[in-house]
Formats: sequence, structure tokens, C-alpha cells
Amino acid sequence: MEEKIPYKIYLEESEMPSSWINLRAFMDKKPAPLLSPTTLKPITQEELSKVFCDELARQELDDTSKYIEIPEEIRNFYKMYRPAPLIRAYCLEKALKTPAKIYYKFEGNNTSGSHKLNSAIAQAYYAKQQGLKGVTTETGAGQWGTALSMACSYFDLECNVFMVKCSYEQKPFRREVMRTYGAFVTPSPSMETEIGKKINEEFPGTSGSLGCAISEAVEVASKNPEYRYVLGSVLNQVLLHQSIIGLETKTALDKYGVTPDIIIGCAGGGSNLGGLIAPFMAEKLQGKKDYRFIAVEPSSCPTLTRGVYAYDYCDTGKVCPLSKMYTLGSGYIPAASHAGGLRYHGMTSTLSELYDQGLMEATSVTQTEVFKVAQQFARVEGILPAPESSHAIKVAVDEALKCKETGEEKTIVFGLTGTGYFDMYAYQKFNDGVMQDYTPSDEELQVAIEKLPKI
Ligand SMILES: *Cc1c(COP(=O)(O)O)cnc(C)c1O
Repeated sequence: MEEKIPYKIYLEESEMPSSWINLRAFMDKKPAPLLSPTTLKPITQEELSKVFCDELARQELDDTSKYIEIPEEIRNFYKMYRPAPLIRAYCLEKALKTPAKIYYKFEGNNTSGSHKLNSAIAQAYYAKQQGLKGVTTETGAGQWGTALSMACSYFDLECNVFMVKCSYEQKPFRREVMRTYGAFVTPSPSMETEIGKKINEEFPGTSGSLGCAISEAVEVASKNPEYRYVLGSVLNQVLLHQSIIGLETKTALDKYGVTPDIIIGCAGGGSNLGGLIAPFMAEKLQGKKDYRFIAVEPSSCPTLTRGVYAYDYCDTGKVCPLSKMYTLGSGYIPAASHAGGLRYHGMTSTLSELYDQGLMEATSVTQTEVFKVAQQFARVEGILPAPESSHAIKVAVDEALKCKETGEEKTIVFGLTGTGYFDMYAYQKFNDGVMQDYTPSDEELQVAIEKLPKI
């Protein structure tokens, strides 16, 4: 049996899921409702529809439908780059001399280079359905903006991207990919929005943050009725769309009768991890199977491991709904680390609640240890991983090394969310031995946490 497992488990097109799985619908104790930023009462679909597309607002509030059908046009787009392979890391296992069996789900097989396209195409589809002219968004490291640019060009929608300034400067080629797909890209904080001007005044020379960029994008969308705002992580709808990762992973493992012991993913806003674990966590919640789930975050932005579980704004501008989540405070601006996709102050409410209930674990790692493992992974497995994804590799390797000590043959699955070709500046720093780690002090974290809204 064991010998028969191929290096890459591919699924047939016909084995691709036809519905997303909505993890919240399986939870007895649901995540707390989103609150309106103006009334501080649970937000209604009507209020949400002012910011998001109608169908996406509906998905955002749906915590009862266990499965939601994937529209055929989205499925057809998925077929251009999915099903994504589940890869058995034979070479990594050998290098580590571990009895553990390691698998990774690779989401980097598309031009945007990450899992974000899975939700981008769905969001663009619903915007087009509604007859909108375009969408606005923010992008941190650039993966989301790139994914959305691709999705918008497919459906002939305008795409207006506010890109966190430090990434805009560090990753000029990302910007050019977006422009190639027809997007307008503006560094954030900009002087084009009220909130951008205000942030620039308060924090002159700031390198920006995802939170500020979100506020700018929301402001532009809310001033133009033919536009809506779309977001690449954190929201329930994004977790829903990303569940295709977990559903395919489960189908591939089931084909070979493999049951994972540990499932690991990096966590920024929590969408890839939420998507990867969805069908497995649903089984755990129903008492069918037990799995260990581990969220890995950067020590420079330790949302689950050092944040508080409270209502907070999803954005620095305090215009998005409030979500009860693990948060470092919406005013927290993380140090400019090289895992831009993980620099977000909060964690999606579903994962926050699961973590709070003790159903999921979390750990944090420093960027130099992450790059060390990234380099090792690239050398043995061939794929040059994104710094974000490498957080998951680091913990998968640690768990595999523990198995080496105990002799346990555990099965470990992790999400390899993307490739790192646009992160060579970071790799250069690492290769030159000048990369530094930054872990905030308790006092630093306390400053933003004290400013949380009192609810
Ligand atoms: C955005 C991103 C992440 C983190 O986002 P989540 O919403 O937590 O999944 C991880 N890896 C890559 C490659 C990304 O682009």
C-alpha cells in the first residue's frame, strides 16, 4: 500500500468538489456575529451589501448551510489550474531521516503564485453577476492583488488595488504583474483618500499596513455605487471559497486510505488554514475523527499566541464591520517582516473561536528559522516556497523531527500556499546573513490592545 503512493497525487477534473464546505455550519458554538461599525449591533445583510456584493454579503452571514454550490463558471476557471496536486515529500522525509510521512498541498501552480486566486475568482464572478463596474481592494505582499487582477481581467471588471507601501517598494515586479492584467495600483497610505491623508499625517513616513490599505479601498468603494470592496482573507466568505483546498486534500488522501494525524498551515488572516482544515475539522466537530491542527504565525505578528480574544475592527480606518477574533489591535502596525501575507492584526472569527475552544493549536516562529527551513525545502523538494508558506514547513519539519526521536510514523499534512519568486529580496537578505528577527515586547503589544473598542 505504502509503496504505491505516488510523489504527486493528482485528482481527475471530475473529482473536483462541486460545493464549498461551510465550516461554521458544523460548529455548535458559532463565532460571534459581525457588528456594524456605526451601530455596534449585529450587522444585517443590507448593511453589508453597501460594502460587499449582495451574494458575498449573504455568504458572509450564512452559518447554517453546510455546503454551498460552486457556480459552474467558477468551476470552469478552477479547472485551468486545479485540481492542485497533493505531494508526498519523500525527498524531505529522506533528508530529515524521519519515519513521519509528510504531504503538502501545493497552491502555487498559477501565475499569481498562491491560493488567493481561489477566492479572487469567486468574488469577481459575483461582482460581475451583480452588474458592477469594478472592485477595490488592498494587497500586502501582493499575492492577493495579483490574484484579483487575474480574476478581474477574466471577467472584464476594473480592479483598483491599494498596495501596502513597503511591499510596493520592495516588490516592483508584483506591481507590474498586476498592471499587466490591467489593474490600477496605488501605494498605501496614499494622499487619494481621506483616511490615507489622516494616517500619513499621524504617522509620517509609515511603511503602511494591511489595515490602512483596507480602509482606503473601502473608502473608494463606498463613494462609488458601481464599485464594491473585496477582501482576500479574514472574512467568512473567503474561508468558504478556500475550502476547496481542504476538500481536494481530503479526496486525494481518501483515495489512498491515508488519515492524517497533524494538519499544519501558516496563518495570516486565516483563510488558507481555515480552507485546508475545513472538512477535517468538520469531522472532528461531529466526533467522527480526531486530528491535531496547528496554526503557524510569525513571531513579529503573533495574533493567536499573544493577542486577546475580543471584538475589534477588521481595519485601521474602523469602517469595516467589527469581528470577535484574536487580535493585536487594529492600530497595531507589525514590523516590516518578509512574510507580508502574514502581517495582519486579527485572525478570522471561525479559527479564533475554534482556537478558543481548544480545538486547534497555534505556535509562532521567527523569520530566520523560517528561511533556514525554506532553503532546505527548496534544495530537496525543488519548489522555492513563499516565506508565508515556509512558516508551515518549519513546523511540519519540527513535528517530523519529533517523530524521529520517538520513532512514531505520524502522517503530517501541511499547506504549501505559494511560491517565493517575488520574495528574492528576502532570500537575498537571508543568503547574505543579514536578516534580522523582530519580536515585539509585551509593552509594545499592550499599546494597541489597550485601544481596542470597549464592547
Ligand atoms: C496571503 C498569503 C498567506 C496568508 O493568508 P491567509 O489568509 O492566512 O491564508 C499565506 N501564504 C501565502 C502564499 C499568501 O499569499
